[in-house]
Amino acid sequence: MVQKKNKKYVYSFEEGDKSMKEILGGKGANLAEMKSLGINVPPGFTISTETCKTYYDSGKKILPEIYSQIETKLKDLEKKIGKKLGDSEDPLLVSVRSGAAASMPGMMDTILNLGLNDKSVVGLANKTGNERFAWDSYRRLIQMFGDVVLEVDHDKFEHILESVKESVGAKFDTDLNAEDLKTIVKKYKEMIKKEIKKDFPEDPKEQLDLAIKAVFNSWNNYRAVRYREINNIKGLIGTAVNIQAMVFGNLGESSGTGVCFTRNPSTGEAKFYGEYLMNAQGEDVVAGIRTPLAVSTLKTKNPKIYKELVDVCNRVEKHYKDMQDMEFTIQEGVLYILQARNGKRTVSAGVKIAVDMVKEKLITKEQAVLRIEPNQLNQLLHKQFDPIALNKAEAVAQGLPASPGAAVGEIVFSAQEALEKANKGLDVILVRTETSPEDIDGMHSAKGILTSRGGMTSHAAVVARGMGTCCVAGCGDMVIDEKSKTLIFKSKGLKFKAGDIISLDGSTGKVYSQKINTQEPELSGNFGKLMSWADEFRKIGVRTNADTPKDAKTARKFGAEGIGLCRTEHMFFDGNRIKAVREMILSNDLESRKKALAKLLPFQKEDFVGLFHEMDGFPVTVRYLDPPLHEFLPTKEKDIVELAKEMKVSVEVLKNKIDDLHEFNPMLGHRGCRLAITFPEIYDMQTNAIIEAAILVGQKCPICGKKHKVTPEIMIPLVATTKEFSILKQRIVEIVDQKIKEAKIKMDYKIGTMIEVPRATMVADKIVEAGAQFFSFGTNDLTQMGAGISRDDAGKFLKEYVAQEIYEYDPFESLDQEGIGELIKIAIKKGKTAKKDLKIGICGEHGGEPKTVEFCHNEGFSYVSCSPFRVPIARLAAAQAAIKSKKK
Ligand code: ADP
Ligand code: MG
Ligand code: MG
Repeated sequence: MVQKKNKKYVYSFEEGDKSMKEILGGKGANLAEMKSLGINVPPGFTISTETCKTYYDSGKKILPEIYSQIETKLKDLEKKIGKKLGDSEDPLLVSVRSGAAASMPGMMDTILNLGLNDKSVVGLANKTGNERFAWDSYRRLIQMFGDVVLEVDHDKFEHILESVKESVGAKFDTDLNAEDLKTIVKKYKEMIKKEIKKDFPEDPKEQLDLAIKAVFNSWNNYRAVRYREINNIKGLIGTAVNIQAMVFGNLGESSGTGVCFTRNPSTGEAKFYGEYLMNAQGEDVVAGIRTPLAVSTLKTKNPKIYKELVDVCNRVEKHYKDMQDMEFTIQEGVLYILQARNGKRTVSAGVKIAVDMVKEKLITKEQAVLRIEPNQLNQLLHKQFDPIALNKAEAVAQGLPASPGAAVGEIVFSAQEALEKANKGLDVILVRTETSPEDIDGMHSAKGILTSRGGMTSHAAVVARGMGTCCVAGCGDMVIDEKSKTLIFKSKGLKFKAGDIISLDGSTGKVYSQKINTQEPELSGNFGKLMSWADEFRKIGVRTNADTPKDAKTARKFGAEGIGLCRTEHMFFDGNRIKAVREMILSNDLESRKKALAKLLPFQKEDFVGLFHEMDGFPVTVRYLDPPLHEFLPTKEKDIVELAKEMKVSVEVLKNKIDDLHEFNPMLGHRGCRLAITFPEIYDMQTNAIIEAAILVGQKCPICGKKHKVTPEIMIPLVATTKEFSILKQRIVEIVDQKIKEAKIKMDYKIGTMIEVPRATMVADKIVEAGAQFFSFGTNDLTQMGAGISRDDAGKFLKEYVAQEIYEYDPFESLDQEGIGELIKIAIKKGKTAKKDLKIGICGEHGGEPKTVEFCHNEGFSYVSCSPFRVPIARLAAAQAAIKSKKK
């Protein structure tokens, strides 16, 4: 260990301020800041987060040099208070409090009343003339210290406390008198001795040393580690330790303790909110020992203190310019503030507070826009359960929260049934073991989807998120019997049949056995206001990935400015079309293929009309058929037999054909533009459908009768070489120009390419020279091929890669900027040398992920495109990126 001489490890509150969170932790920095504002904070000092790091680095030891710094600060504190730690007449008592740079409420440990022992407790009783108080403090110390430092099971203390309470007929802790508390202390000590074969340490210095170490240890306790994992808190070096003189809320009925928020943390309402208890200490309020009182009742009980509290809180809020969560203690009529931090809040409260604070001129619009974590908006965009009804309901099972929202409906067990019932106007929940592409229709018509198998990236989960449909996946407790149309929740032993009503909460993964009322999301109001500010700052466009008019409509509602990716294959699965698609695929010659394609043309055309209509002038980018053909073929024996009958071929012949189309590695197989190189008539049909639809809605929309301005953007997938692009482009141009000429109209259109094969990034300039008018980065495939990771197989190891920080984030969720991002930069540079104003977009799953959106902003993209429900997230993230880059 290299040790810098004279390095400062310990800071008195007077030496810190709010900018020093990294070293002092949030709690320490804010205590120091409040001291400097002249707020009544009990004095103390902070042992830095760096000390925690040295503690771990040196094998859980505190270095001698640091001990001496602690000693010095403790002496200062004793001088300030005029009492000494461990003094048997008039002891100084302190709290030892944890606090890291990021707020982790309740995750680490705190010890109160440190410094008491068998002697000083008597001194304290004499000095205060309050024996009950002294022994109450002592029993609290032994309990906390025993639990946190000596690691004696918490329940053992509770058990003793309860049994003494019972024996003296005390309902609350406050009903215990000094003698009762002495009994408890005695029993506590005996129990500790029995449990750990050691005595509770009477020496205050030893208490302090052990307590400091226990706080450091709590940095790596299970719940703290999990909390950091779940909240993605990374890069912190440890917790600080705050040693602070105690103030006492348990000195009787003129003392008390409480927590308060400067605004309501659930609703955001600008109204002082909080709870307190008289004659109580520390966590009593949160621990639910007695029912706390609303802070508003303090107004009548003690108007002077109430006013002081409100004033202080308002001052602190104004100072930090954000809603504060504060802890206070009243000691015999004197108010002390023990903590302030930016309060945690629900998303809707966060939005309201940000908007209100702009109105109050406390913060600017920019600051308001920066305040909301874009991903959190998700919660606001979906239906939610009525919170009161939800509170009362008990879940029957728990799956993965695969796609947020709230859904109530009748159970159906097949996609077909879902479609039929939904067409009759019924709300249905599609319950499946897992879903497959063939279920797409049923998934679309269901209010919610529940599967027993599959994780967060299962078909059901991915598709449901894309559609914004509530989904609970991988509910392993559920057994489905499709034959008898029943499902059983094993652990509850409950059986349901088709038609029974259930409710799903896609945000928590919970399944309920009854109807729970839902509420529509509120898109205007404060949310609308915040989004309109975001749009003022945003520099890049936000489009949507939408395959159906319904998705397009949703996306428009969420503010999409066009379609960045319309995957035409989803149109192929719809209803009866799949038959024509299969006929086309299984045809042996060009003529029968063309015949099958001719059947598809009117369907595709109708879809495009719907999309152009919904987008009403906004650009629509259509990607040509992309997946390998085998994906459209049946896999189940029953379906194969049926199809053979329809096609008038033997099952055998059909099976051979299907085998023929089998690929070892479909991701790199016969797909994308490769399909059109060998079967050009497929793309011909798509070109015809798009242009006929565009001409139609450009003259008179069959849906609304209006003339829409349409600029179709045709996008060729999986291009790797310049030749692929130029061959296909030429063919498209011939058809389009012919159609336009026949219609005797003028119409702009664009032909571009996806950049998703690494090779294409290297020849991007040549592809532009061959006529590509835009690029759209397909970052899903580009990540797969660029990093050599198949997304379908990555589940087995990627988690571990992220855990070991080989990848900082899952590269399929957040763009791997270092690697794949570099490929993108090269392609952009090359593309732009060939055409300065080349339009650049992104349409992979990453397009709605805030960090990726920031990357796209910085690299000069024209737009990002993402699933409809991520559009607001992308709008906000784009605004934040613009504000941040302006600041630089
Ligand atoms: P957490 O981080 O879990 O909130 P804290 O360090 O804030 O833990 O302490 C827990 C409780 O103990 C709080 O309610 C706080 O007000 C109280 N407390 C901490 N230090 C003191 C003190 N010096 N005097 C009185 N109460 C204190
Ligand atoms: Mg606290
Ligand atoms: Mg692709």
